Amino acid sequence: MGIIALSIVAAIAGLALGYAKIYFQVAGDPVADKVDALLPQTQCGQCGYPGCRPYAEAIAAGEADINRCVPGGETTVIALADLFKRDPATLTVTPVVPAKAVIDEQICIGCTLCIQACPVDAIVGAAKHMHQVIAEECTGCALCVPPCPVACISMIPIKPTIASWHWPMPDTSTSSNVY
Ligand code: SF4
Ligand code: SF4
Ligand code: SF4
Repeated sequence: MGIIALSIVAAIAGLALGYAKIYFQVAGDPVADKVDALLPQTQCGQCGYPGCRPYAEAIAAGEADINRCVPGGETTVIALADLFKRDPATLTVTPVVPAKAVIDEQICIGCTLCIQACPVDAIVGAAKHMHQVIAEECTGCALCVPPCPVACISMIPIKPTIASWHWPMPDTSTSSNVY
């Protein structure tokens, strides 16, 4: 009897869950999903939105242009332009000098504000103790710099390597380049 009762309860619960899945499902935004899949997911906020997903939703809603993702750069702009069947030649991304955050251990007071600001958990440290940046995790977004009350975080430019260096874009702003 016990097994039969449990089976009936399980069947009712299964039917209820199936009903809930069909009738209470929150519909996602397929366009935002596609845009989000093309963004780097570093959650750095340099696009002016508090993460990649909010920026993707703003693009899908037509509230933001597709050229605001600095870490994604030209590659992301081209991918998004391809998604929306737009000409990427008319779009530019503000170039940034690649950099990493470095904390001056002698000045840090251990307030933890930088940890709370870092979107990728690249800072380690305990309250009232010196903090450090995990260089490999730092995306160079600089979001940790403004909250620091003692200004002990510096953004140190990364020297280009053979692997990262690329030709600079030609200056097309003057006609002197036309022969
Ligand atoms: S700038 Fe790019 S990587 Fe950074 S949060 Fe915005 S979409 Fe994501
Ligand atoms: S440590 Fe600073 S610069 Fe590096 S990812 Fe975190 S918030 Fe950005
Ligand atoms: S915000 Fe500045 S002072 Fe506070 S823990 Fe981070 S580096 Fe140290």
